[in-house]
Amino acid sequence: MSTLNLTRAECAARGADIADVSYRIVLDLGNAEQLRVPTFVSRTTVRFTSASGQTWLDLAAEELLGLTINGVPADVSEYDGARIPLSDLRIGGAENVVSVSAKCRYSRSGDGLHRFFDPDTDEVYLYTHNEPTEARRIFACFEQPDLKASFDLVVTAPKDWVVRANAPETGRTEGEHSMTVSFAGTQRFSTYLMALAAGPYHLVEDEWRSGDQVVPLALLCRRSQVPYLAVEEIWETTRAGLDFYDEHFGTPYPWGKYDQIFLPEYNIGAMENPGLVTFNEAYLVRGEATLRQRTARASVILHEMAHMWFGDLVTMKWWDDLWLKESFADLMGYQVTQEVTPFDSSMLQFALSRKAFAYHYDRSPSTHPVVADIADLEAARQNFDGITYAKGASVLRALQELIGRDAFFAAARSYFSAHAFGTATFADLLAALQQVTDVDLASWAQDWLHTSSPSVLTPLPSVVEQGASERAPRRNPSLTLTQQCTDRITGRSILRPHRLDLGLYAVRDGALTATATVPVTFSDDAVEVPIESAVDLVVVNDGDLDYGLVRLDDRSRETFVAHGSSLPNPLTRAVVWSSLWNECVDAEQSFVTFVDAFCAQAPLEQHPMILESLGSFIAEGLGSYLPAAERDRQAARAAGAARAAYEQADEGSEQQRAWATACALIGEHTDALRDVLATIATGTAPALGGNLDLRWRAAQSLVARDAWTDEQIEELLRADDSMRGRTEALSARSGRPTPASREAVWARMFGEEQLSNDTQRALLAGFARSGARIADFGEAYLAMLREVWTRYPQSMAERYVRAMPAPDLAEGDVDSHPFLRQVGQLAEDPSLPEALRREIALQLDDAQRALRAQAKAARSGGEN
Ligand SMILES: [Zn+2]
Repeated sequence: MSTLNLTRAECAARGADIADVSYRIVLDLGNAEQLRVPTFVSRTTVRFTSASGQTWLDLAAEELLGLTINGVPADVSEYDGARIPLSDLRIGGAENVVSVSAKCRYSRSGDGLHRFFDPDTDEVYLYTHNEPTEARRIFACFEQPDLKASFDLVVTAPKDWVVRANAPETGRTEGEHSMTVSFAGTQRFSTYLMALAAGPYHLVEDEWRSGDQVVPLALLCRRSQVPYLAVEEIWETTRAGLDFYDEHFGTPYPWGKYDQIFLPEYNIGAMENPGLVTFNEAYLVRGEATLRQRTARASVILHEMAHMWFGDLVTMKWWDDLWLKESFADLMGYQVTQEVTPFDSSMLQFALSRKAFAYHYDRSPSTHPVVADIADLEAARQNFDGITYAKGASVLRALQELIGRDAFFAAARSYFSAHAFGTATFADLLAALQQVTDVDLASWAQDWLHTSSPSVLTPLPSVVEQGASERAPRRNPSLTLTQQCTDRITGRSILRPHRLDLGLYAVRDGALTATATVPVTFSDDAVEVPIESAVDLVVVNDGDLDYGLVRLDDRSRETFVAHGSSLPNPLTRAVVWSSLWNECVDAEQSFVTFVDAFCAQAPLEQHPMILESLGSFIAEGLGSYLPAAERDRQAARAAGAARAAYEQADEGSEQQRAWATACALIGEHTDALRDVLATIATGTAPALGGNLDLRWRAAQSLVARDAWTDEQIEELLRADDSMRGRTEALSARSGRPTPASREAVWARMFGEEQLSNDTQRALLAGFARSGARIADFGEAYLAMLREVWTRYPQSMAERYVRAMPAPDLAEGDVDSHPFLRQVGQLAEDPSLPEALRREIALQLDDAQRALRAQAKAARSGGEN
């Protein structure tokens, strides 16, 4: 094992040994514009106390130039590229001063100090991303969350650059070509939160006030993105969020200023660095954004802002408790968006899309309890997943319902004040919560946070009368609701306490009407619920307060397919669509049923957020969950419905944009939308011409059908002559479904040195659209899996593992599929790193799930 992979045990020992840490970091980035120079010089002075007299510093540098320990030069030959051993330290509370100078590498993978050359303006931009442990690529440090420190930063950079860090600038001296900028010393926080951005960034400033507190606000992006920076909308969300957290969290905003910066080649959505939050530039939509995009942007802004308290002010002691910050921030992001911004269908998006992210991981063999067991860093990196974020958020939302919203925020306030600028564990949070409620939270936590896999909730109507209908209602029916769950980690059967609403609906005059809402609380394997009136549709978990995979009874499913869009509440519709989707993913229903519901109900649906999500579900299902023989027919049906709805939507309406997006996605799987896609891609579609991202998505689907030439790609590139345009064009070209193109893309993905993260993503997305088959790439894929972990940083390696060619039912069934058997052997191969095997197991599970769904659709093909 490389010494880069820190373990929980050794960090716990170091955490107990070391105290009172502070860093003075001096970075010379004056050469940043010379792209041929791969490194910069980093000088760090670390002050700390030690109990044992020996420890190590983390540093992932190109070269260690010098080391002094308490003023005495020390031997640098023991440096192994990851750790600097320190010995003969002062003990007994005396301060140690260690100075390290090193050559560190500018990154192209999005981790550490990333350097980006902007071909749009011939400018260089730098920014950092350090979670979980990339600060050590920039300076020597104790890289673990519980060793919080204050940071004193000095940066030399090209003259006239904008340089921002966690704390405000305190002064600068200017030379002929460069300048040196000093920043205020920070409050104490963890190394993964240290942040810096430097370059000719565009800067907009404002401020937010609460009583005597004034918080300077800033928005930044690279200069070519200024037209897409939705300044007013972002300020509005920012202010509303600060007002909310200021009122509910008790502790005033802790970090002085609040900068938000949008960045290219960014690996993830966003990162909560105190005082300098970094965002993926994709949130700057190029053209008229859809409601879903604007809601997602507000939600990520409020997610990161919640972290200023959950995570930054009070930090998890070790990565086991990553959920302590992520689940809370995720819930706050969606909930606060719903409450304080104009984007009041945020919780609908949570029900429909965000929870699908949770279920994807939770039903797989890679599942884990929300409170995870994280033995080392490679495992920590993998836990930024659907469980830590979305499942944790769902469970916390249920907790909020259980103990009451006021009590929930009261507990948060006491947690912040008790642990401000320190670290905490799950036990600390539980203690804060238990103070405000009589509910036994230890048992609740055991059932929800320490177990894995979702419960399956199934309604069984216990009275089924033949001929029941609107005219001859059933009498005194009742319903049995069951729960079932086998924890995939322990193999044990799990029963959880559920609190949810049953929504009961009847068809009246051709539309669904609510007849009753029945609250149900149960923790046994089944509960019987009396139902007063005749019911055509039972919605389990109406209002989406519970977490679990919900099944539909046959009558309810038929009713929804026939009348679903008439359900009065859009959140109810989202909950049923989500159930129907999950039934198909789990091969309980044929995906053809989902297409039936889509064709019948989506064209009547008015909520743009639901429409756009349905477009994604349909496209995903067409790609994975149908046997080859069914694919064209079902794709043509879905395309027909989407085309009609798109053409009938009001000019320039949210619905029209949502349908255009759906068409662009569905069009990848059928030739039936070629003309629609061509009008979108060429910008001749009415009212949509301005949205460049949508134009590229349509073009990419056309290329995947081999219905768009390289000249046409070049033409679109001329309309969007930018770095983002070039990346989209690369992705488009990589999706051409010819053997020669696929071979070339594969070779480039693994042949090129220094592939940037965005280039890798563009190539992978194109390759996925190109329809590569196992017969052609199976062997190359298996060979790649064996070496990918050692060749690439983990973030890039994981993306490569996801490049598995799609399996087809014709190639063998789920259990005897020869390729999947080989993949399964690798997933069990003890010579491969555990984190790699976990990623392989997840891909294998997706592939097996797809085959089971295809088999289900093949079996029930005649019924539809
Ligand atoms: Zn987060």
